[in-house]
Amino acid sequence: MNLHEYQAKELLSLNGVPTQRGKMVSNINEIDATANQLKNDTSTEFFVVKAQIHAGGRGKGGGVKVAKNLTELKDYSSSILGMMLKTPQTPKEGKLVKKILIAEDVYYTGPSRHSEFYVSVLLNRSTSKVMIMYSTEGGVDIESVAENTPHLIFYEEVDPSVGLMPNQARKVAFNLGLSGDSYKNMVRFIFSLYTAYVKCDASLLEINPVLKTSDNKIIAVDAKMVLDDNAIFRHKSFKDLRDESEENPVETQARTVGLNYVDLDGNIGCMVNGAGLAMATMDLIKQSGGEPANFLDVGGTADADRVEVAFNLILQDPKVKAVLVNIFGGIVRCDRVANGIVQAYKNMKDKIQVPIIVRLQGTNSIEAKKIIDSSGLHIYSATSFSDLTDRIKEALI
Ligand code: GDP
Ligand code: MN
Repeated sequence: MNLHEYQAKELLSLNGVPTQRGKMVSNINEIDATANQLKNDTSTEFFVVKAQIHAGGRGKGGGVKVAKNLTELKDYSSSILGMMLKTPQTPKEGKLVKKILIAEDVYYTGPSRHSEFYVSVLLNRSTSKVMIMYSTEGGVDIESVAENTPHLIFYEEVDPSVGLMPNQARKVAFNLGLSGDSYKNMVRFIFSLYTAYVKCDASLLEINPVLKTSDNKIIAVDAKMVLDDNAIFRHKSFKDLRDESEENPVETQARTVGLNYVDLDGNIGCMVNGAGLAMATMDLIKQSGGEPANFLDVGGTADADRVEVAFNLILQDPKVKAVLVNIFGGIVRCDRVANGIVQAYKNMKDKIQVPIIVRLQGTNSIEAKKIIDSSGLHIYSATSFSDLTDRIKEALI
């Protein structure tokens, strides 16, 4: 689950990570009170207006503005709130900004120069370790640093069973070229960031920029945080953090009925029971010259209701040229699934305009084929894999 910057900063702050302070606003009428409050709490002179969408690169797209007074703050806020913000990470048409973050200005002048760093914490699946990735080249887009000057990105791997060791945090601060107070503050910052990552069951925590202020504080100015969906049940309060309007609507629908659905770019919709069989089916589609339009695991109970919901989800995608149902009757009997498919098809006959290809193998597969063949509906029941691939090829012509 992706979070907005303001939500990530709240979580970080609760877990002891120093962050740029601010408040989320969704109505322009709240600006005055918010600005006053922020001025009292932080004694900031300027304000930063930041669009809250699930995409990065907002600064470049005009979604981050520094306001020098209340009039500017209102101007920027009303132009950003409600805009279609286009960044390299949004769809072509941009994303509608429904919330903004009004934050304190942290780039003030002081005894030393401020500087921007990059720090992220993520899981390295190939080593089963937590990886801290960091660079002196913060603020700009890290992708181009990785491409053009990869030697400026450092990695520190943490064994999760041992946790972050003090010498590791010190090494990070040292490699970032810090000394004195800012060095000590960076060591603390790295510790708090690692702790927040673990405590929140995050799968990614990316802070770009981490700022060394002109008075040597180390704070998170931006925050991208992804929480591990499989661990959300451990955090009751996290449920409210989901912003469904930022997510794929079909995936949201699937989640509410308990189906495991992932939207993909291809042209063959697939409905399968079991994640392994779903993977194998997607390979099969590719080998037949098609591209899977989705991953959908209907689980063990492929009854009429579930099949109908699944058909509905798949058929919402206009790219779908055929639907492939590949079900293994182990726990669930094939004849039951066949009845489910026939029933679901009848219920939504008008909506189905593409070929449906069904392969049911396992318990009572012969009865299942009879049910489908005698239904008089436009459902093709395949028995072998080669039969399936031939039908997919046909549908693609
Ligand atoms: P992103 O463009 O989506 O990554 O958004 P960021 O939160 O990283 O903000 C973009 C840029 O805005 C930062 O790299 C800073 O240069 C600038 N910025 C953010 N906060 C402040 C601030 O408090 N004062 C000033 N002057 N600039 C800021
Ligand atoms: Mn950023």
